Amino acid sequence: MTKIFIDAGHGGSDPGAVGNRLQEKALTLRIATKIKSLLEEYKDVSIKMSRTGDNYPSLSARTKAANEWAADIFLSIHINAGGGTGYEDYIYTSASVKAKEYQSIIHAEIIKLIDTD
Ligand SMILES: [Zn+2]
Repeated sequence: MTKIFIDAGHGGSDPGAVGNRLQEKALTLRIATKIKSLLEEYKDVSIKMSRTGDNYPSLSARTKAANEWAADIFLSIHINAGGGTGYEDYIYTSASVKAKEYQSIIHAEIIKLIDTD
C-alpha cells in the first residue's frame, strides 16, 4: 500500500497568489481533489489530503499529519505567480533516490500532457 498525502497549498485566510479573479487556494484545492480522484482508481493506493475545504492548516500541521500517517509521498500543489508558463516540480536536495525517481516519472508524464510553449 502506497500512502500519498496531497497538500492543496494555502487555504482559508491565505489565498496564495491572486490574479485575474483567481485565487491560488481554490485552484490548488481543485487540482488536489482531481489528483485524489484519479489516484483512487488504482489498487494499493491510499490518499489523504491536507484540507478538503477552504481552511488553512498550518504548514507544520500539514507535515505533522503526513508524518503521523506515515505517508510515502507528500505532494504539495502550488501555482506560481508573476508571469511565465510551464510546470515545475521540486524535491529536497537531500531527497531519497526513490523520491528522485518519483519526481522524474511524474515530471515526464505531466510534460507530455501540457503545452509548454
Ligand atoms: Zn503557493
